[in-house]
Amino acid sequence: MKSNKALLKVVSAKPGEQPLAPLVEDLLIRLGEDPKRDGLVRTPRRVESALRFLTSGYHTDIQKVLNGALYDVKYDEMVVVRDIEFFSLCEHHMLPFYGKMHVAYLPQKKVIGLSKIPRIVDVFARRLQIQERLTQQVAQTILETIKPLGVGVICEAKHLCMMMRGVEKQHSGATTSAMLGAFRERKDTRDEFLSLVK
Ligand SMILES: [Zn+2]
Repeated sequence: MKSNKALLKVVSAKPGEQPLAPLVEDLLIRLGEDPKRDGLVRTPRRVESALRFLTSGYHTDIQKVLNGALYDVKYDEMVVVRDIEFFSLCEHHMLPFYGKMHVAYLPQKKVIGLSKIPRIVDVFARRLQIQERLTQQVAQTILETIKPLGVGVICEAKHLCMMMRGVEKQHSGATTSAMLGAFRERKDTRDEFLSLVK
């Protein structure tokens, strides 16, 4: 009876919970490798845990990340966090793209604890992404969370899918931006942000 129960559990696992290691082993075979050789024996399990970590943003609750780190203030100058490192996976090739993000906002009544902004970036970077959407999601999340007068996000990234495959080498570095509210409407606000991050 006990073994039947265990079997039932595997069969009813949700797609997101099914093991990846057997697929990676199959992948190695189909690439012409021998998954039994020394260096590869533990590779399927390593790849599984790496992929779980690199896509853990799907299961991270933004509200829990912020964990009450929202503060009422009278401060109304621009808040800028520069050079936030991130690592993500492009959804077209599942290869890394990585770089820096600069995030700014003009507070209205609330600010976010400064250390939480890189955490927000991580939540969205640890998914299959395109750089444009990653940039927008970070900006939108800040907009919805603290309702500032505006948000600006600039993202500079290098894409290994282009660099490693030798295609479009000149475009392997890309810059995207999201300008919301005052950052979209007011040139002086946008210029202040750009001068602070250049
Ligand atoms: Zn790609």
